[in-house]
Amino acid sequence: MNLAVLGAQWGDEGKGKIVDLLTSHFSIVSRYQGGHNAGHTVYVNGAKFILRLIPSGILHAGVTCVIGNGVVVDPQALFAEVDELKKNGIDVDGRILISDKAHLILPYHRDLDLLSEARRGERKIGTTSRGIGPAYEDKIGRRGIRVCDLADSKGLEQNVRDNVTARNRLVQDSTMDWKPVLDQLLTHAERMRPMIRDVSVLVNDAMRAGKSILFEGAQGTLLDIDHGTYPYVTSSNASIGGVCTGLGIPPKAIGRVIGVVKAYTTRVGEGPFPTELFGEMGNRLRETGSEYGAVTGRPRRCGWYDGVAVRYAARINGLDGLALTKLDVLDGLESIDICTSYRSGGRTLTDFPSDVGQLAQCEPVYESMPGWSAPTKGLRQFDQLPAAARNYIKKLEEVSGVRASIISTGSERDDTIIRDEVWR
Ligand code: GDP
Repeated sequence: MNLAVLGAQWGDEGKGKIVDLLTSHFSIVSRYQGGHNAGHTVYVNGAKFILRLIPSGILHAGVTCVIGNGVVVDPQALFAEVDELKKNGIDVDGRILISDKAHLILPYHRDLDLLSEARRGERKIGTTSRGIGPAYEDKIGRRGIRVCDLADSKGLEQNVRDNVTARNRLVQDSTMDWKPVLDQLLTHAERMRPMIRDVSVLVNDAMRAGKSILFEGAQGTLLDIDHGTYPYVTSSNASIGGVCTGLGIPPKAIGRVIGVVKAYTTRVGEGPFPTELFGEMGNRLRETGSEYGAVTGRPRRCGWYDGVAVRYAARINGLDGLALTKLDVLDGLESIDICTSYRSGGRTLTDFPSDVGQLAQCEPVYESMPGWSAPTKGLRQFDQLPAAARNYIKKLEEVSGVRASIISTGSERDDTIIRDEVWR
């Protein structure tokens, strides 16, 4: 059965570990949106790998890793990652395939990202400044450069010229020269050529041949351009719809959907976050959970589990199960709060509001659960968990409306409780 694994909070839920863990049951792992702003951290036998653009399945020999048309690809970042993996002894040759319809991120996109954040001032989004947003803007503005355009050097030259000229008009005193941009792109094109495919054909053929596919999301549902906390969102569809548009596959091809959630909540960058904790408890979660951005090193904002938000993500994505990560980070807490609804303007809200202004006014309504003192770290059986941890999970499932099919108790692949064989 094909499986989508995506973030059901504000990203950084631990998708990398879950995808890596499940990969042994699949032939293909495919990314369908985002770019190298993702930072999926995977530990295998004590070695740390941060995967930004390349699907987390790359650490399993023989698995094909596909980058779909919905992804924006920075060739420089792609090859830096490829080289890093090779240096660490991972055989990547012939295993990374890129859609000919994927859009490219070029150096001017990075400049425009910085410029647009600087112009927003106090209202900045808190982007990773990697040019992802401006590349998607060019895509929607129908002036983007796609991977298939690399084959037509004349057309490519014209496109690069036009785009660099347009950018120079936007950036004060800028005189970026289009020629080096083109030359570098042509060098990258040469190296990329063997990786380029019609991904829709590839994936549909693979399915027809009975191969199973794992669809790997980046960021999270609450950062989705349509369903997230707009405008504090990413520029792509991180939720389930992105799988179809970002790979060229029909909805029926998605067999099951797993939402990855932390046992608490984090958020990077700006935007409302109802269950955010500012005092000692926020610091405790940040330090114990090592909540610092994998790509940017930025401290993540931390708070209690938000059941309203996850219930919303469950509805948007049709979640069949949760992969609950970082339960061990809560070890040793006396009590743990769980947000069951919001209060806003004297009313109780059980649905996640569409307007960020309203969300910012929402007060979380908490139910307090007893904590546990015996460590859960590294446990691999559900019934080994302390009773209070099992109760916490039960409450979390009840509030979210989804069963915790997988529970992660540490960063290593094997520190995991598998309650349901979600790949079957
Ligand atoms: P992603 O972007 O969703 O893949 O998430 P990140 O990689 O940014 O963050 C997840 C971090 O938490 C990584 O450093 C993981 O190794 C780590 N991690 C994942 N699952 C667990 C867990 O169950 N317990 C602990 N302590 N760490 C975990």
